[in-house]
Amino acid sequence: MKVFKFGGASVKDANAVKNVAKIVRLFEGEKLGIVISAMGKTTNAMESIVDALCKRDEESFHALVSERKSFHLTIMNELFGDKTLNIFDEVNTVFSELSAKFSDPIPDNFDFEYDQIVSLGEVLSTKIVTAFLNTSGLKAGWADARTLIKTDRKYREAEVDWTTTEERFHTDFLPRLEQKDMLITQGFMGYTSEGFTTTLGREGSDFTAGILAYCCNAESVTIWKDVPGMLNADPKWFDNTIKLDKISFKEAIELSYYGASVIHPKTLKPLKNKSIPLYVKSFIHPENDGTMIQSSTSQDHLIPSFIFKMDQILFSFTPKDFSFIVEKNLSDIFDRLAKVDAKINLMQNTALNFSILLDEKKVDVDAILELFEDSYEIRYNAGLELVTIRHYDQQTIERVTVDKEVLLEQKTRETARLIVRQNVAI
Ligand code: ASP
Ligand code: MG
Repeated sequence: MKVFKFGGASVKDANAVKNVAKIVRLFEGEKLGIVISAMGKTTNAMESIVDALCKRDEESFHALVSERKSFHLTIMNELFGDKTLNIFDEVNTVFSELSAKFSDPIPDNFDFEYDQIVSLGEVLSTKIVTAFLNTSGLKAGWADARTLIKTDRKYREAEVDWTTTEERFHTDFLPRLEQKDMLITQGFMGYTSEGFTTTLGREGSDFTAGILAYCCNAESVTIWKDVPGMLNADPKWFDNTIKLDKISFKEAIELSYYGASVIHPKTLKPLKNKSIPLYVKSFIHPENDGTMIQSSTSQDHLIPSFIFKMDQILFSFTPKDFSFIVEKNLSDIFDRLAKVDAKINLMQNTALNFSILLDEKKVDVDAILELFEDSYEIRYNAGLELVTIRHYDQQTIERVTVDKEVLLEQKTRETARLIVRQNVAI
């Protein structure tokens, strides 16, 4: 069995859905497990619906629900000539139930409510795509991730119960796949032992593909995307990007750790554990090779990769009592940072100074100043960029530091990290 994952962009309108059918047809004779995300920007829209519901903003709530309903109906009207098909009733039911939620008692657990509602995006997309594949003559079944992927109760960031999930795939998914050519399931969600829906964190559909492949011992996973594969930099920041043909799991994990956003970071571990290769391929040119992620590290060093994080802020702490930065100070600094839930992108120390780099948009500068000012002198610099280069050489460093001032540089054998600031003309 092969596992495919189609993200929101690959099912964003009727033509995109038709393209999915075209791609799966290329694999006639194979058994496919297919994971699909919500259509287009539906997850964001569903988030706004939950917000409106929890804020008791009735007008926005109903406006947003009807906007999402017509978005899906527009796609369906284009996909299905026969308006009496069951799928129309199914989709209408999902939206009537969603609409009716406004009359329920006021939700007291936002995260719980979020998961019950936001997950409907994937329920809708998988139902529509399955119906379309069937009307196009393919033998596709619908599988409910809310009975397959068992999780804990950490709503919005649920952890998978691997043992039960693997069992569920063996007793419920694989036997059903015997009867069909493909089974379509929802990305990014699971269920608790009480039968409530959970989600696995934003952009978690890749991870679902990893879970499915792991549990069913799939032959490979393919993530179909609107890019030719994994590139060595984000084209948004870089001209002349190069596609990485073949990299190791280890390299892909490193790249996603530093911020490359092509694959959800949790996806790779289950695949690596069972040596299941992952392909990232273009849904526009499915015949092209894309990127293969697998166990061998032999080609990792061939092409340098660049990862840019913008809007960074660098804090430096110096103990007021002039004590050295040693373990005692460090644990005090980390304890304080944990209180503001700071996610550190880079850190460095000298005898009297400890520096950390954070995402500017995720920190409350005043809260940090207040938290540290009793014992530390604090300085900070905002508006910085963090550049990470994997498999760097001097030339690549020069390339990214043209017209830039380097504030800090860290190098290991394989990775260079630079905090830079755009030179301001005087
Ligand atoms: N639809 C979910 C999201 O947009 C999951 C995913 O697309 O991976 O976050
Ligand atoms: Mg998405």
